[in-house]
Order: sequence, then C-alpha cells, then structure tokens
Amino acid sequence: MKRRCLMVILMLLLLLAACGDSTATNSSASGKIKVVATNSVIADMAKNVAGDRAEIYAILKPGRDAHDYEPTAEDSKALAVAQLVLSNGLGLEAWLDKTVQSSGTKASLAAVSEGVNLLKTVQGETDPHIWHGPDNGKIMADNIAKGLAKVDAAGKATYEANAASYKTQIDDTSRQMKGLLDAIPAERRKLVTNHEAFTYFAAQFNLKIVGSIIPSFDSASEPSAQALTELVKRIKAEKVPAIFTETTINPKLAEQISKEAGVKIFSNLYGDALGDASSDGSTYLKMLLSNARNIANGLK
Ligand SMILES: [Zn+2]
Repeated sequence: MKRRCLMVILMLLLLLAACGDSTATNSSASGKIKVVATNSVIADMAKNVAGDRAEIYAILKPGRDAHDYEPTAEDSKALAVAQLVLSNGLGLEAWLDKTVQSSGTKASLAAVSEGVNLLKTVQGETDPHIWHGPDNGKIMADNIAKGLAKVDAAGKATYEANAASYKTQIDDTSRQMKGLLDAIPAERRKLVTNHEAFTYFAAQFNLKIVGSIIPSFDSASEPSAQALTELVKRIKAEKVPAIFTETTINPKLAEQISKEAGVKIFSNLYGDALGDASSDGSTYLKMLLSNARNIANGLK
C-alpha cells in the first residue's frame, strides 16, 4: 500500500517535471546548470569545481550508507531536470541505472572514477571507495570539470581553474595526512574497519589491511560466524592495535569483535558519506583529515 502511494506520487512528480520541460529549458531561473551527484562526497567536490555556475543536488545525504539505497520521488524529480549526473561507478550505486531510466532524464552521465588505477580488496573484489586515496580525489576533480564543461562549454575555463585550485588543496590535505600517519610505528600500521572501504587510503599511506568485519566492499552483506572467529584470530596474531567503525554502519559487530580480540574500538571514521554540516567531516577535505587523525591516534 505504501509502495503504491509512493509510485503515484512519483508519477505525479514526473508529470510535473515533463510539463515544465515543454515551456522552459532545463536551466533553472537563476541560469545555473543542474547537476545531480549520487553521494555527499561527489556533491562536495562538484561544488568546489563548479563554483556558482551550478546547482548541485546530492542523492545520498551526509551520514547515509552508499550501498543499500531506495531512491525517493525527490531524487527522481532532480534527475528528470538535471543536465549532468555525476556517479562514482564501479558498482557502488547498484540502484542508479534503474532510477536514471525511470526518471526519463536526458542528462549527460559521467562516472568520476574514470582513469583511476583500481585496486582489489583483501577479498579480491574491486574496491569502489576510490575517494579515500587523495591522489584519486584529484582525478575525480578533473573528471567533474570535464563533465561540467561538456554540458556548459562557456564555463570550461572556470571549471578547469577551479579544479586546479581544488587539487592544490587536496595535495595540501594529503601532506597533512601523511604527516599524521607517518607517526605510526611500522609494526602498528595495521587496519581493520567495518567494511572494505579503505584499500586506497591504505595503499597511499602505506598501511596494511588485515581484514574487515564485513568481508566485502558492500556494507549490506553479512559476515558468517566462522568469518568473525577467523578475524578475531587474525587480529590477535597480527597484534592489531585497534579496530575502526564507520559513521554510516551499525557498530554492533565491531563491538563484539573488539571484546573478543581484546582491542580498542574507535567509532569515528567517515567511510561512505560526509558528516553533517557541524561535524569534522562536513567536506571531502575535512573527511580525509579527520580519518587520518583518528587512524593515527588509534594506532600509534
Ligand atoms: Zn561502502
């Protein structure tokens, strides 16, 4: 019954959007181009690259898990009138294709992960969480600039200049992160997190991923009792100093592992989403630095 109601609302919204199309272009009254980003990280990057030439709508809001998502009528409406849709790609947004199709959007689609050197998780899957490696963040910024220029050629020079200055800020953040993480002694550079989201972080800052509580890049899957027992063994054998949980995932399992393995638990990493506006993870750059600080504090 609830689903049917939602469908009716959705169809009404789509009709409204379609009516709007016949009388005006997709540009808003302000003349800004309309961009939909699938998550809060990409939306924040897009704001930095677009400056005031675009209005950015984020489908996944801060604090929201990226994998398991049911798009809303508001999302469909935003897609329907967008000129550009920025996604991560790499299987992160399993819900996207269907939503894009049903919205009837004519937007240009760009995957910001294009050209990133992909890495596999401990389990052998491609890790889609590319943004945790700041070097990848710079590729994402360039892809966003390209995507924007494709739908707004007049803004090309602005997007390129904004991306260049944003990349300088990413490099600056990256240097600060390295400074914090270099302080962890060699034998303690071991990372256990909720789900396999930190492959690129670990690769760029020379940490070893020992395992993750959910043995997958997909936070929606569940570990078996045997997998958890093995993880506890590995944590003890490798003398992992602490385990970390992410703000978007229920910490229950991590708390159990922490008890069984006798290690400290830190529940403060920003994994799949930014934190809210008042948090220390309210932007991509703050998220990177906050994670580096918390991991350094937990392990050293
Ligand atoms: Zn994830």
